[in-house]
Amino acid sequence: MSASPRSLPCKTCGAHFSQPVTNGRPSRFCSEACRTIDRKRTRDAWNGQKAADREAARAHLICRTCQQPFSAETSRAGRKPVFCSAECRRADHIANLRSWRESRRPEPD
Ligand SMILES: [Zn+2]
Ligand SMILES: [Zn+2]
Repeated sequence: MSASPRSLPCKTCGAHFSQPVTNGRPSRFCSEACRTIDRKRTRDAWNGQKAADREAARAHLICRTCQQPFSAETSRAGRKPVFCSAECRRADHIANLRSWRESRRPEPD
């Protein structure tokens, strides 16, 4: 095994290129263009991961009032919302109020 020059595959295009033997870190790219492409790929992968994380943080739920599926971000406390909108929350509140009044209505003889 000879020590120099080393031939390594480029991380981006896979082409083998000879490494100058230096004390520094070996380059993983055959050219500046390949280095730029890899940097962009890494950034895109990172952005994709962040979007996936955001999506995972969203809960897929069914509204208690209108029974429509909706997604919402879960709060830090981990509590999940029950209604898709303020209108549905109000409608549920009114319904609760009405049933509470009806339950308190005196029974007819
Ligand atoms: Zn390359
Ligand atoms: Zn709703």
